[in-house]
Amino acid sequence: MKGDLGIKSECLISSEEIQTRVKEIAKEISRDYKDKDLVCVGILNGSYMFYADLTRNLEIDTENSFVRFHSYVNNKKNDDLQIFLDTNCDCRNRHILLIEDIIDTGNTIYRSDIVNRFYQAGALSVKIATLISKPSCRERDIQIDYLGFEIDDLYIFGYGLDTDNKGRNIEEIRYICR
Ligand code: 5GP
Repeated sequence: MKGDLGIKSECLISSEEIQTRVKEIAKEISRDYKDKDLVCVGILNGSYMFYADLTRNLEIDTENSFVRFHSYVNNKKNDDLQIFLDTNCDCRNRHILLIEDIIDTGNTIYRSDIVNRFYQAGALSVKIATLISKPSCRERDIQIDYLGFEIDDLYIFGYGLDTDNKGRNIEEIRYICR
């Protein structure tokens, strides 16, 4: 059965709940950026489903772009996260919305310095939308501007998120039972 993956897991957030919440966030973003020049920047890979559903529910025109983080250089863990696939969009005098799947410790966003990088490239504003936040795991203070769901400290997969590189194409979010 799809979603089984040979591990014990339970549904945490149903597909219907996700779609309802994504539409609500899309409405909020459409209102906030009405008449503004918005670039939606998805953080790959995990955000791909959230990104697709969120952006197609927006009621405004946007430019669409992606970045990928990479924490390993020459197979050595590197504390300065690299932006692996840089966006080739021109950010000058434009508003940037970073679209992330999940903010857990907050280290990825913090160490990549992505918000400052966009400001240095001339962005007028840089905001963060994330589908999931795990506040009890936070190690860095990250400003989340648009949030789907807060969850407890659980390992989840589905709706873009993987477990051992599988499970991204499941429509709901499941958690692994301990
Ligand atoms: P952070 O740097 O905020 O701790 O974590 C960010 C990244 O860790 C996410 O973009 C995601 O790739 C991964 N991550 C954190 N928690 C989970 C989880 O519960 N499930 C999955 N699949 N990935 C997670």
